[in-house]
Amino acid sequence: MDNSIVVVGSINMDLVVRAPRLPQLGETLLGGDFHTFPGGKGANQAVACARLGAKVKLIGKVGKDSFGDELLGGLAANGVEINAIEIVSETSSGVALITVVTSGDNAIVVSPAANSQITCADIWKHEKLIQEASVLVLQLECPMEAVETAMDVARKNGVPVVLNPAPAQPLSESLLQKVDYLIPNQSELASLTREQDIEAGIRQLLDKGVSRIIVTLGEQGVLFTEDGKIIHLHSYPVQAVDTTAAGDAFVGAFAVGLSEGKTMLEAVQMGNAAGALAVQKAGAQPSLPSRAELTQFMQLQPIPAIQVFR
Ligand code: ADP
Repeated sequence: MDNSIVVVGSINMDLVVRAPRLPQLGETLLGGDFHTFPGGKGANQAVACARLGAKVKLIGKVGKDSFGDELLGGLAANGVEINAIEIVSETSSGVALITVVTSGDNAIVVSPAANSQITCADIWKHEKLIQEASVLVLQLECPMEAVETAMDVARKNGVPVVLNPAPAQPLSESLLQKVDYLIPNQSELASLTREQDIEAGIRQLLDKGVSRIIVTLGEQGVLFTEDGKIIHLHSYPVQAVDTTAAGDAFVGAFAVGLSEGKTMLEAVQMGNAAGALAVQKAGAQPSLPSRAELTQFMQLQPIPAIQVFR
């Protein structure tokens, strides 16, 4: 084990416009300024880990285009190891079209493009990276076969698997049983379980054999399970300007906590603080906190309340 975090996942360019509200179907709405930000859940989570000082390797694909060059340059500049990212010529780099409304909430359409070409063979090619890792981090913006193969490699080698099941899609029971830490947000939990009630959703996943579940609840904080109990950690009281990548900040910081041997509660607390910092800045990767920012924030802010509620 070399204490690295391996992330398998998407790399996108985020194309962001602010708007007073979301347009209706068929409506054209005038928005504000337009910005591009490097994004993609895999890349964001890798950068989230790297900013917090972790050694992180990203397995993924970009297109042979200007977005691809920019994305690779940005990842490297942030300290992410990019040797396992392949440049493909058959398709473009992934992009995400993001509308951010006045409340800070967002709506997103993703074109996966190069990300959809990550195969099982790519995972086998980089098997050694996963074997040596201290944590494997996955999301669902690349093909399921690749995600499952990466899980199999990790499990065979005793590497804990963190899955952020986003964007939401049905997952088989056998796949769920390969996950050590499942981190959905509230709507992903509802899609996964077809349960509107959060507690019922969590219980259903526990019954299906998921070891540990961490549900991020935006400004409500986080619910997580420990020994069959459900624990609520409240959020930090902050002013949200853009919630893009709050979940990625959370997942990255949580994974860093795990890789450093922290307890479940300590890792969740790191995620909670990273999420609170991320919502206070615009964009995806630019909003991810550094280790110094995270440490200072956690030292200065009162510790959010914890309730064991079942
Ligand atoms: P996602 O971006 O995946 O929808 P969430 O919105 O649940 O994820 O946010 C992830 C985490 O970020 C939350 O669990 C919380 O810790 C933090 N967070 C998100 N929004 C806020 C907020 N408005 N105030 C404080 N913390 C927040």
